[in-house]
Amino acid sequence: MKYPISTRSASLTPSLTLAIDAKAKALKAEGQDVVGFGAGEPDFDTPQHIKDAAVAALAAGFTKYTPSSGTPELRQAVADKFKRDNGLEYKSSQIIISCGGKHSCFNVIFATCQEGDEVIIPAPYWLSYPEMVKLAGAQPVILPTTDKTEFKITPAQLRAAITPRTRLLVFNSPSNPTGSVYTPEEAKAIGEVCIEKGVLIMSDEIYEHLLYDGARHQSMASFSRAHYEHTVIVHGLAKAWSMTGWRIGFLAAPQPIANAIDAVQSHSTSNPTSFAQKGAVAALNGPQDHLKPWMAEFDKRRQYAWDRLNKIPGLSCVNSKGAFYLFPNISGTGLKSTDFCARLLEQEKVAAVPGIAFGADDYIRLSYATSLANIEKGLDRIEKFCKGR
Ligand SMILES: *Cc1c(COP(=O)(O)O)cnc(C)c1O
Repeated sequence: MKYPISTRSASLTPSLTLAIDAKAKALKAEGQDVVGFGAGEPDFDTPQHIKDAAVAALAAGFTKYTPSSGTPELRQAVADKFKRDNGLEYKSSQIIISCGGKHSCFNVIFATCQEGDEVIIPAPYWLSYPEMVKLAGAQPVILPTTDKTEFKITPAQLRAAITPRTRLLVFNSPSNPTGSVYTPEEAKAIGEVCIEKGVLIMSDEIYEHLLYDGARHQSMASFSRAHYEHTVIVHGLAKAWSMTGWRIGFLAAPQPIANAIDAVQSHSTSNPTSFAQKGAVAALNGPQDHLKPWMAEFDKRRQYAWDRLNKIPGLSCVNSKGAFYLFPNISGTGLKSTDFCARLLEQEKVAAVPGIAFGADDYIRLSYATSLANIEKGLDRIEKFCKGR
């Protein structure tokens, strides 16, 4: 049998992060002492009151279909969150609950883009964005940046990339994989170019609460009425509440876009897991005091790792201002990222993600969502690896 494989699925690049992860896990299973810097999730447990709410929902039989776009209770809790944290007014009909922030991104791209459309994605980017754009039949247009500008695009660079075919700008601050954060002034100016050119912005704000060194986040939708009308905010519970496995994300959109996404979701996944939605209500409406100690811990690790990285021959690293990643430049080692990471894993049993996965081949991504002891051990090994070159 000649199996049918669609051009759409055949055009996808399989996830390099998952490949590295699989290799590291295989080595671990052989009993090797592997240090993993690959994690894209916090190493803290979900706060207890959130788990309790989901358990109580299960016990009470809350196990049936909910409305496709989420329970009214959770959509209202999300609307309240945007009011409380961002000063934004959304009706609950403008809020869609999806199966993770990744699914929210997919829904936005799928509902707004098609063949012949272009989507502008600044690099380094979260690796799923360009693949989602390809799945929708549209064309990713990558805007490269470097550590010299803290991986930020300029309004002029954006303006030059916009064509009559441009439908969407993907904007992600704080950023995965670089940890860079646009100042409110910078973000506002990027938004103004999109308003002038009639381009919609998908603003992925999932790391909004994970900030360091006094960095400030202001939602793209909050700068003016026009910004609000040109922005879809994508967000989720995964990172700031450590709920990656729960698969609950959300978005806030202008009403016509929310309606289109509602239709897409109603014919694909239907509702996100009912009792996970109850946990999400508890997460959003409950106490937020878990975050402060988590951030203190992340910050300690970040400072330690950043300091060490800049003392290693061949490496240089701008410090991250958000999320939980560092993105060191490895060009001084003479290696490109895939080679660097493959040899590092082979020789020193350290797993890192090659920057090429994020569209930046002179860098690697290190996640500091792992213990300080692991970070110390891993950096000793990276130092040995680079000194030996
Ligand atoms: C983790 C992450 C998401 C969402 O992850 P989910 O687990 O699907 O909620 C979205 N955007 C970025 C940039 C992320 O790093």
